[in-house]
Amino acid sequence: MDQVLGLQCVLCGRQYALGEAPYTCPACGERGILDVRYDYEVVRSRLDRHLLARSPERTMWRYTPLLPVEDVQRAAPLTVGWTPLYRGARLAEDLGVPCLDLWIKDDGRNPSASLKDRASSIALVRAQEEGAGVIAAASTGNAASSLACLCASVGRPCTIFVPEAAPPAKVAQLLVFGARVLLVQGSYDEAFDLCMAACRAYGWYNRNTAVNPFMSEGKKTVALEVCEQLQWQAPDYLLVPVGDGCIIGGVGKAVRDLLALGWIERAPRIVGVQAAGSAVLATAWRQGTEEIVPVPPTTLADSIAVAQPRDAIKALRAVRDTQGMYLTVADGEILEAMRLLGRTMGVFAEPAGAAAVAGLIQMIRTGLLHGTERVAVLVTGNGLKDVAAALQAVPAPVRIAPTLEAVREVVGS
Ligand SMILES: *Cc1c(COP(=O)(O)O)cnc(C)c1O
Ligand SMILES: [Zn+2]
Repeated sequence: MDQVLGLQCVLCGRQYALGEAPYTCPACGERGILDVRYDYEVVRSRLDRHLLARSPERTMWRYTPLLPVEDVQRAAPLTVGWTPLYRGARLAEDLGVPCLDLWIKDDGRNPSASLKDRASSIALVRAQEEGAGVIAAASTGNAASSLACLCASVGRPCTIFVPEAAPPAKVAQLLVFGARVLLVQGSYDEAFDLCMAACRAYGWYNRNTAVNPFMSEGKKTVALEVCEQLQWQAPDYLLVPVGDGCIIGGVGKAVRDLLALGWIERAPRIVGVQAAGSAVLATAWRQGTEEIVPVPPTTLADSIAVAQPRDAIKALRAVRDTQGMYLTVADGEILEAMRLLGRTMGVFAEPAGAAAVAGLIQMIRTGLLHGTERVAVLVTGNGLKDVAAALQAVPAPVRIAPTLEAVREVVGS
């Protein structure tokens, strides 16, 4: 794996060889998240934009030389990544900005129906390369169903910690995929801490967001894809829903990789969108601090309901380094975004999955966008994962007797 130089702590800057630090920085503890460093000369010798254009690999593994894995022969057989990037012309028109060059990345199209599959598929390969047995994860729901899905495809055991309030569809996915499911009578943050303790006690491979430095490397592939799908003309803005901050940290990493490789000329401004009821990172960004003050979340967007974001530093730096911003959206704005996305594009998102669309709508309405920019928006999870929330976003259906007469009454004439 000579493309990887090693790991570096985001807090103290200490460098480690692969395998030298277990997960986070031994000197800084759990806040000392590690970042994977690459030898871009080696990457460049294996991959370039022309090779990519001819690559038959229509999965995230088309970027293997930019990922911390040795041998993708060990990867799960499921198709993860290379999801569609749709032109959002009808949505832009509906929002009164027909000249906006709008793109929607539908990552609900992954095997377990969320972007988390990009991280889980890295976890699977890393666990095998490190000779680990059981893989464990704590999750608001999607990281868990994703890990369970990919583990099922290779027959590997996994243990999952989810808060008991997780939407039933996500729990159903876990059970169908045959994971050992532990419904924790507590919050996501409590499930996370419990999983950390269990991994230490049992020696399980820990797929938890942020403490495992490889997860954001998997998630970065979504932004590599967006730039490639736009012929390396990076968008002016890239909008990302944010909970723990691992996706947006990965997006920031993708931008750094692409600039270092010279594949894009300028960075997109990264915009983090949080639910108003779970906005610890937006608050820290506004106050110009990296000190995180946990706040119990209150939002219907369960996938981004996080009291204490685990990937805060990468998440804040991704925005700061690209002159981006953090926005907060109310649950009502998220429901409106779900409805608009569905009606104008035929894309069904869960609440967290539509949060960045809500951020887009807010940017348009508050004049942050002029209406001619190129904007890409990540839709991170499919709406079927949380049907109860979706039903809150739409009017009730019309009930009728099974007669043509009743149809006439509704349709008229
Ligand atoms: C996990 C998740 C997010 C947030 O990702 P973080 O890395 O926690 O910031 C957003 N949307 C969906 C659908 C998710 O599952
Ligand atoms: Zn450190």
